[in-house]
Amino acid sequence: MIREGGAEGDPDQWIMNAVLAKALTLGASVAGYVPVSLLADCPSVRSAGPQGLARNSGTVIVLGLYHDPACPEMDWWEEGRSTPGDRILYGITTALSRWLGDEHGRVAHDIPYDVTEGGIYLKDAAVLAGLGVFGKNNLVIVPGFGSRIRFRALWADLEVGIKCVPECLSPCTGCSRPCQTHCPQDAFPGGRFSRKRCLSRMDADKAAVRSENSDTTEKKSVQHCRNCELLCVYAG
Ligand code: SF4
Ligand code: SF4
Repeated sequence: MIREGGAEGDPDQWIMNAVLAKALTLGASVAGYVPVSLLADCPSVRSAGPQGLARNSGTVIVLGLYHDPACPEMDWWEEGRSTPGDRILYGITTALSRWLGDEHGRVAHDIPYDVTEGGIYLKDAAVLAGLGVFGKNNLVIVPGFGSRIRFRALWADLEVGIKCVPECLSPCTGCSRPCQTHCPQDAFPGGRFSRKRCLSRMDADKAAVRSENSDTTEKKSVQHCRNCELLCVYAG
């Protein structure tokens, strides 16, 4: 699924449309883009501080990869290696960056996942790229995939216009919010997401596995809580 604009006679827009199509052939489930200038003032920058990406021009291309609940291991986090799903996405962003250079002579590079290591607020970027909308579970709900999708991005030396993104998806209307009521951390007090409460669960999961791994050569992965994602009833 591609979210794209279209301006005949605009070479950067033409290349961007080719990039989005190429991303899908490389394995991405969805692809979209957002000018860097739009990210500088995204909601998470206002609430959590500046993003890590040190660019003030060009475009961020956001890729999503469906994480099938039947393959939970795609989301298992390993110390120093992230998750298998994220490694697949990294393979796509780096292959796409190389392709952009080889085929179109444009500079492009993978954007690190972590904001503290040069990354961006990926969920905000995905929404601004028109890939989906925020659900009451604080995750991006993407048509056809729901919340069961992970994102990664690359930066490209392409200047494309801002798209008009239709606000046609209202996934949470009338829902009884099992995503919130089954959170083991009660991380949605008053219906609003508490990053602090969710992170405390993540940190505890990591600490428990580190402790188990400290005296064995067989290293376990961390299987983080995904209740708010997996209990979402939106079927796409
Ligand atoms: S990941 Fe788990 S702890 Fe965090 S908000 Fe979702 S349900 Fe709650
Ligand atoms: S479970 Fe319902 S309220 Fe929660 S994100 Fe999914 S659709 Fe929205």
